[in-house]
Amino acid sequence: MFFFCSSYAIVKPKIAMQPLFDLFGVPPLAAVRPILRDRFGSQRDAERGDPVAVLIDAIISSKTRDAVSGAAFERLIERFPTWEDLMSAEVREIQAQIETVQYPETKAPVVIAALKAIHAYAERFTLDFLAPRPVEAAHLWLERIKGVGRKISAAALNFSTLRKRTLVIDTHVLRVAHRIGWVSPSARDAATAYGPLMALVPPSWDADDLYEFHCLVKKLSQTVCAYQDPDCDQCPLAAQCQRFGVEPNGPSTNASAVIELRPSPDELRSRVAKLDRSDQLTAWGVSPFGDPRVDSYLPGNGLPRGHWHEITGAGTENELPAAVTGFTASLAARTAGGGMILWALQRDDIHPPGLQVFGLNPDRLIFVRAAKDADILSVVESALRTRGVAAVVGEVATLSLTAGKRLQLACERGGATGLLLRRQLYASSAEDEGTTATTRWSIAPSPSETDEPGLGLPRWEVRLERCRGGRTGAWIMEAENATGDVRVVAELADHKMEAEPARGRLTGT
Ligand code: SF4
Repeated sequence: MFFFCSSYAIVKPKIAMQPLFDLFGVPPLAAVRPILRDRFGSQRDAERGDPVAVLIDAIISSKTRDAVSGAAFERLIERFPTWEDLMSAEVREIQAQIETVQYPETKAPVVIAALKAIHAYAERFTLDFLAPRPVEAAHLWLERIKGVGRKISAAALNFSTLRKRTLVIDTHVLRVAHRIGWVSPSARDAATAYGPLMALVPPSWDADDLYEFHCLVKKLSQTVCAYQDPDCDQCPLAAQCQRFGVEPNGPSTNASAVIELRPSPDELRSRVAKLDRSDQLTAWGVSPFGDPRVDSYLPGNGLPRGHWHEITGAGTENELPAAVTGFTASLAARTAGGGMILWALQRDDIHPPGLQVFGLNPDRLIFVRAAKDADILSVVESALRTRGVAAVVGEVATLSLTAGKRLQLACERGGATGLLLRRQLYASSAEDEGTTATTRWSIAPSPSETDEPGLGLPRWEVRLERCRGGRTGAWIMEAENATGDVRVVAELADHKMEAEPARGRLTGT
């Protein structure tokens, strides 16, 4: 019933599951194309070549840089001015002309075999007979030639005057498709990736759309999404990519020539300044605490939704975070409204009915258990990108700055709020790299007060240690029984109310 990878286990599958199907959602090709157009410009104006020439060019260009294979093709047609000449040439003669490309000894016989097959069928050197055929039939005709696979046949059909509605999946497109998540890593070549990728192509796209999409993705690969060191910080698809910031050499294709663009220090400064703009903090609205003694410290007078927030425990609360869990639950209830909440943890030590004290109805909760921090972060990130999930809680010991950036991008994409609860039980020597969270809270238990016999309402000593676009502060707060609201009992006198660097106050929700 549960859809995460097999290393995760569901603890309490209480909620209707349909929103979780979106955990596997991938950015639609139609949404990606305008983003790439903005970066690389329109790619629709290319001249289309003769289908036979495009086929021969595609055969010799496989796994070779365009400039190298282009020069080899020019040498070939200069040495053999007609297709007849080329078809009748010796393998070693062709090999000598294309020796600069990858695998010339393999490609030379394929060139001859392709020309012979065309001439035997059409009695001249033309592929025009493929024009009226359905695209898959045209593919199959070409792929009967030994050495011609789906990438080469797609190039001959789409890049030429045949203009067939088919996508050329070369190493560039395959690499980006793996990293973004359009196709599974098990689809290791054009033949296996073709079906899944074509299934994502909008029905309205024609041959020119597919041509442009190929060119745009290839440019992304050549300039940003390199094989060994993708420059994810400069990538226009970072918010859509499943592998943003992850070590690059996971599912990948073969190495290919790349041009890497490194951001200059000035560019980096401008990007950081853009990320830090306070007027972006309330784009998804805020969830007020309902007490100006707290809300006035927060940007937009409330906890910004569509951002991630960090909650840590003070003292022993780092290990057995009962108070932290309660406070986090109250934040989750407040930010999620009536929406669904996913809670990812490593130890099944939460008693769900107890969360009702903090306004969290267990029927709105899905618990996911995973083995380690990396798995928790993966679940949290996927859930944050999922339509229908309003808030996501993740319990982790460590969190790198890169992981924090990934979480923020996921929040911005889906509008859900992330709450990262730091527990040191799993990694007592965890190093803290700092945080990119919008707010960071430190929570300690505080003695309850009650006039009645028995336990009073939960109380916390709450310290707002970081608040982007707002101020830091400290209070004693108390949970309002089963409403999710918290009440400020007292402002703490000893906190340092340091203003964040001047960014102005924000208004509106
Ligand atoms: S975010 Fe990184 S891995 Fe993903 S497409 Fe962009 S450059 Fe490639």
